[in-house]
Amino acid sequence: MAELMPTEIHFGHVTYTVHTDATEINTDEPIGQGQVGASFHQLRAIWVLTEGMTLEQQQNTLLHEVLHCCVNVSGLQVPGKGPDETEEVYISAISTPLHGVLIDNPELHAWLVQGYPQRHMMGMTE
Ligand SMILES: [Zn+2]
Repeated sequence: MAELMPTEIHFGHVTYTVHTDATEINTDEPIGQGQVGASFHQLRAIWVLTEGMTLEQQQNTLLHEVLHCCVNVSGLQVPGKGPDETEEVYISAISTPLHGVLIDNPELHAWLVQGYPQRHMMGMTE
């Protein structure tokens, strides 16, 4: 049973849509050469490149973008969004190890989410 990439991600009362086709996102913001994901906070949208990417790369990218969205939704003003600037450096440093922690510790994930009602599971397959 394979899970599909979620089409929506909830950050409290804020919902971002998730897209694998960047043309679905109505933005003039350019996607950089070599870029594999992006968050469009004004539009509450996330883009993840899937073509030519392994499942692990896609998972990593989506988690990375989720962390950007967490920063944005928190209202924290972090200087610099460029590749070598603060937010990107920290999120890049955290996202891959965090993905590894979630993979290596399924009991941690299960414990963290226990006791909460399940949201409607969009995109799940039987
Ligand atoms: Zn980033």
